[in-house]
Amino acid sequence: MIKSDFHVHTLFSDGSDTPEAIVKAAIKLGLEEIGFSDHAFVSFDDCRIEKEDRKRYIDEIARLKEKYAGSIGVLCGIEMDYFSEDDVSDYDYVIGSVHYLKVNGKIYGVDHSPEMTRLCIDEAFKGDTAAFAEAYYEQVSKIRETTGADIVGHFDVITKFEKRGINLDTGERYARAAKTALDSLLPHCAFEISTGAMTRGYRDTPYPSDAILAYIRENGGRVVVSSDAHTAANVAGKFEVAEKKLSDFGFSACGFTDKNGVYHSQL
Ligand SMILES: [Zn+2]
Ligand SMILES: [Zn+2]
Repeated sequence: MIKSDFHVHTLFSDGSDTPEAIVKAAIKLGLEEIGFSDHAFVSFDDCRIEKEDRKRYIDEIARLKEKYAGSIGVLCGIEMDYFSEDDVSDYDYVIGSVHYLKVNGKIYGVDHSPEMTRLCIDEAFKGDTAAFAEAYYEQVSKIRETTGADIVGHFDVITKFEKRGINLDTGERYARAAKTALDSLLPHCAFEISTGAMTRGYRDTPYPSDAILAYIRENGGRVVVSSDAHTAANVAGKFEVAEKKLSDFGFSACGFTDKNGVYHSQL
């Protein structure tokens, strides 16, 4: 059984439960560790930790860490977007994710809604879905240097809306762009096997695709299983599916090393 979950959102950003409700849910599930990763501040989106709430977030997680020390390990992480502004030295770990593309000075969300993704592809890339993917993966390839990411969040999140009619050309250009990003991140970061889009009904399989997961495995990459839960009910949601992926692809380890050099094994 996977014994921890390090990608969870709370009321401090766009989640709907308090950190304490999340901790209680995690204890009930028998997890040994829970890590918080609310969205860091970005200037153009209000679903993120507001600057004035940042200290409150860190203090509240520290309080829970102490209060529940006998029952569960609690980590204070952060999900940094490519465009986030924050001092990450105050957190235990960083998940680095690309949620927006900036094209010709305009910001487009890539995983917000099928409508916005469609608008981005049509308006910024003239309908060329491979060009959209190339721009996305180019940004992903820089996520370690821009955010200090220890974990890469939902690597191929641009495939989120396949069931809602956003079908990308995942041929040669797509594969090449994804591979370039993977190659630049593989030595430095763990990649999520994320069930977040499954528990929210967008997908039937976790991120990333089997082809990407196979590439990570073949090249000695590391993985971490994440729920990207936005509610207490979704903590560790669908982890049995991710666990099956681990064994199908022959991963004998999963976990990540935090900013203090501590390795958190999930098995
Ligand atoms: Zn994210
Ligand atoms: Zn997230």
